[in-house]
Amino acid sequence: MRDAHGLRQSILAGERTVLDVARATLASIDERADLNAFLPVEAEPILERARELDESLARGAAEPGALFGVPVALKANLAYEGRELTCGSRILSGYRPPYTSTVVQRLLDAGALPIATTNMDEFAMGSSGENSAFAPTLNPWARDYTPGGSSSGSAASVSAGIVPLALGSDTGGSVRQPAALCGVTGFKPTFGRVSRYGLVAFGSSLDQVSPFANSVRDAELIANCISGADPMDSTCLEHAPIQPVERANLKGLRIGLPAEAFGDGLDASVRQKVEAAIEALCELGAERVPISLPHSEHAVATYYVVATAEASSNLARFDGVRFGARQEGDGSLAGMMGATRADGFGDEVKRRILLGTHVLSSGYYEAWYGRAQRVRRLIHDDYRRAFESCDVVICPTSPTPAFRLGERKADPVAMYLSDVLTVPASLAGLPALSIPCGTVSSDSGDANLPVGLQWIGPALGDESLLAAAKAFQSNTDFHLATPPLRREQAGA
Ligand code: GLN
Repeated sequence: MRDAHGLRQSILAGERTVLDVARATLASIDERADLNAFLPVEAEPILERARELDESLARGAAEPGALFGVPVALKANLAYEGRELTCGSRILSGYRPPYTSTVVQRLLDAGALPIATTNMDEFAMGSSGENSAFAPTLNPWARDYTPGGSSSGSAASVSAGIVPLALGSDTGGSVRQPAALCGVTGFKPTFGRVSRYGLVAFGSSLDQVSPFANSVRDAELIANCISGADPMDSTCLEHAPIQPVERANLKGLRIGLPAEAFGDGLDASVRQKVEAAIEALCELGAERVPISLPHSEHAVATYYVVATAEASSNLARFDGVRFGARQEGDGSLAGMMGATRADGFGDEVKRRILLGTHVLSSGYYEAWYGRAQRVRRLIHDDYRRAFESCDVVICPTSPTPAFRLGERKADPVAMYLSDVLTVPASLAGLPALSIPCGTVSSDSGDANLPVGLQWIGPALGDESLLAAAKAFQSNTDFHLATPPLRREQAGA
């Protein structure tokens, strides 16, 4: 059962119970344990929730929600009361939040069956899943390749057919890039359309809870459930939830093609697939508009100043006093905090705390952080100008298909460059999605690897962006390709 809507319908029609769905999902998690997509899952609360949903349906209690009975995997940085919340880090081991994030609460209100939690790069810092303190997640298309990151387990679990929907978080591309590398749909809404309450903060001006699905239609369904104003998050916009909008066809859609995104660093096979998809868009009536985003060449540098600055401040709270693990050190308070952080954080997190602390330090603040903020504004203005002549910006999501596990791990800069095409929209706060646009053969010819097509819309243009991408998917079948060994979940 690929689509969430169909799964819900089959439950409401009595073809299966939510308990069947829960059991089948837990069985597929076990069956695909090789992927390391999930951190240890506690089955009993999931079965309990499934029974409650079945009972409420039998009682005819209330109108069943839009996600009734649908399993939704949760990235391990989303608080769900009483469930372990590690953020893929040793420092939070054993931490169980006493509250539920707004997005998870809204899933519960919509009748969903949340499945906690999926593996991730520690504190969402990474592009391959290899920074998880537990184990790297494997790509369901080819297990010696990375699924991308940092929402690695959420992407892999949808790609492998374990769940129809998952939530991740996208700070600089952590939903779009793994969606591309795993051949699924990933949608990052406009910054502020989804509450961050209960999402463990990494870069607060960039973080956005974002869904994975097998189609834009399903991504829109869950986005509709989780978005909308929230008094618990002052940066959450006062806008109504993201509404489904239909667009009959793509006639007259002006697609902006940024010269900078099609430059030298783009893998030839990715370029070919993306150009073929653009051709398909044009056959469906879209019109090409050449555009330029001149400051995007500075986006990665800017992102790694802004995001590390915010991370160094946000991660100060993990000190062994309030959350998770503690190391006593020399027994003094400072010694305990130092020992807890030295032991609890992995290398990449430490690198970013050091970098972020440096760019915010009094002698260097203006030279680094102040300047990065100004470049961020220029990147934003590039898009504003571009959207005067186009409706959507189209480019690859990632400059390469999935890379091999270990290939970029020792080289942080090579890893950071994985995000070169996703961070510009993050810095500008724009809605963006990645959808599959075909597969290419790996260098060694041993695997087929998916390619992602990125769509970026103007601020608050989430609805029309989704409408256009839905129209594309209803006329093409790129999104129907599935990896080998995929198991259709939910007792199908
Ligand atoms: N890969 C980027 C990073 O390492 C983006 C992470 C994210 O979006 N959470 O920061």
